[in-house]
Amino acid sequence: MDAPTVSRDFDVVVIGGGHAGAEAALAAARVGARTACVVIDPAAIGRMSCNPAIGGIAKGQLVREVDALGGAMGQVTDVAGIQFRMLNTRKGPAVRSPRAQCDRVVYNREMARRVVEAPGVEVVAGEAIELLVEPGASGGSRVRGVRLGDGSEVLAPAVVLTTGTFLGGRLFAGEWEEAGGRMGEAGAARLSRSLLALGLELGRHKTGTPPRLCRHSIDFDRLEVQLGDDPPQPFSFRTGRLDIEQLPCWITRTNAETHRIIARHADRSPMYRGRITGVGPRYCPSVEDKVMRFADRDAHLIFLEPEGRDLDDIYPNGISTSLPPEVQEEFVRTVPGLEGARILRHGYAVEYDFLKTHQIRADLQVAGVDGLYAAGQINGTSGYEEAAAQGLMAGANAARAAQGHGPFVLDRASSYIGVMIDDLCRVNPDEPYRMFTSRAEFRLLLRSDNADRRLTPIAEELGLVSAEDGERTGRKERRIRAAVERLRSVRQGERTLEELLRRPEVEIDDPAIAAALEELGLAADEASEVEAEVKYAGYVARQAAQVDRMRRLEARSIPAGFDAASIRGLSNEARDRIARRKPLTVGEASRLPGVTPADVQVLLAALSGGR
Ligand SMILES: Cc1cc2nc3c(=O)[nH]c(=O)nc-3n(C[C@H](O)[C@H](O)[C@H](O)COP(=O)(O)OP(=O)(O)OC[C@H]3O[C@@H](n4cnc5c(N)ncnc54)[C@H](O)[C@@H]3O)c2cc1C
Repeated sequence: MDAPTVSRDFDVVVIGGGHAGAEAALAAARVGARTACVVIDPAAIGRMSCNPAIGGIAKGQLVREVDALGGAMGQVTDVAGIQFRMLNTRKGPAVRSPRAQCDRVVYNREMARRVVEAPGVEVVAGEAIELLVEPGASGGSRVRGVRLGDGSEVLAPAVVLTTGTFLGGRLFAGEWEEAGGRMGEAGAARLSRSLLALGLELGRHKTGTPPRLCRHSIDFDRLEVQLGDDPPQPFSFRTGRLDIEQLPCWITRTNAETHRIIARHADRSPMYRGRITGVGPRYCPSVEDKVMRFADRDAHLIFLEPEGRDLDDIYPNGISTSLPPEVQEEFVRTVPGLEGARILRHGYAVEYDFLKTHQIRADLQVAGVDGLYAAGQINGTSGYEEAAAQGLMAGANAARAAQGHGPFVLDRASSYIGVMIDDLCRVNPDEPYRMFTSRAEFRLLLRSDNADRRLTPIAEELGLVSAEDGERTGRKERRIRAAVERLRSVRQGERTLEELLRRPEVEIDDPAIAAALEELGLAADEASEVEAEVKYAGYVARQAAQVDRMRRLEARSIPAGFDAASIRGLSNEARDRIARRKPLTVGEASRLPGVTPADVQVLLAALSGGR
């Protein structure tokens, strides 16, 4: 290759402008780093590869946490949303999650605008083809920037990889197969080779998308309607109220005829022919997978969701497929309401490289390559929300490292973000990792309503949110504390209102309780937080005690040059795992596979200078 034409210096380079890349660039810039966002096509910043829906169970909590840390996803959703729903309202507050169907064009445009206009971010159009490295302090390498396809170099002491499904991407539908990152966009094979050359281990994952249907070809009169909440609740703690007209979604079902056609052609799906070897998400199977694996089921639900306010595209949620186009046409038309459906774009699958996560540390730095961070689909996760949350953390950490500050790590008791990153560091997911509420052991503490109270004070200290955001959260905290105190002090007969509210059948809008709280003027979400705090006080206290124990271990940091190999008393496996992974804290070490409670005691003693 010719000598580089230009080389430019930044504090942080983010490679990619998807959901992880956009939040990474914005977070790095918020904490004061001069940030380059290198992206193959700047118009694709914030593009939604699959359904333009944000949130959902557990994913909604992640978005609220991203928002509480000053991220953009919640606010962009409030601008682009066309239908808002709170899921699980009949279940406990711990598992209530917001979800919004968005206009994909508005979402893409709004996110791209924010990144392009963000002070401190420069968008650089180009394909990153090679990581530039030099020998590192600890025997490995240290990153110093990236080389682009045109030979130019973008230099920085910290680089964040957020390449999504693009690394070594291949697209499939039936017998058709082509290299690509997603439909209509080229993949990025050269960067994969650069990662392999650094000695990093890559795996293969796959995912898929359904055909898109033309709105005018669907007979909606025959279908069950699903409406949004009235009034809609905004995603962002910073959005006052949503004044929008919401669009309906619809529900239909596959049937025996649909299944017969799919089963007849299943061997033409590239997965069944063994052409795709990557592992796909078990919880989000293709329709051919569902039909073949659950042969006893005579119907599968399909949610028909608009992709935008003025768009003709309808997303049929539930029939992701990589069957040949003519088979997609045939089976879709067997579904009630879709008899005359026209397909605008056919479904397909994508298989891509990801970084095996035993190489990821708690600050999302890649072990062995100092200054290199990774976030999003490249870390073996799936989903916009998982990507955005990691992007924010990786961007903030890259910026802090470039500024000479220590890592910013959230623990499992603080957030779903902490749970996800800790999970990724501990085990290599054997399928694309997606967030579920069941992954969080402290879910009563990690509600979507209190994400700001949990995280905004920390974010304010790091410069991730404005002082105004900090003050707003402080005022909310004080109002909630005052409300709980009020319930504790006002009596109704034998018992206080706090005791009354603990009874399962009593809710926060009970007349006596509402009257006592009236003058505090609580917003609806504040009232529901008061209810959760009072009703679940016993569980919350138990979880808080476990959190205390866990945090004592998390607080014991392991110094950078710590030599695990020389510690007598550690099991061979623990010694090996700790030496290879270089955990940042005893807490992180304690969760490595093969590290026993006895090893943890030895480690604590060694760190205290004992034997
Ligand atoms: C067909 C398909 C179906 C999917 N289905 C689902 C689903 O059903 N459920 C689900 O949860 N998720 C699904 N996803 C995944 C979802 O889109 C991702 O989880 C999410 O977009 C990940 O965000 P990201 O930022 O990691 O990557 P992406 O959104 O993929 O963004 C990657 C970005 O990196 C840029 N880029 C890549 N390589 C380079 C390079 N070398 N140089 C410069 N820029 C580069 C790209 O241009 C792009 O901007 C699907 C994805 C695809 C493609």
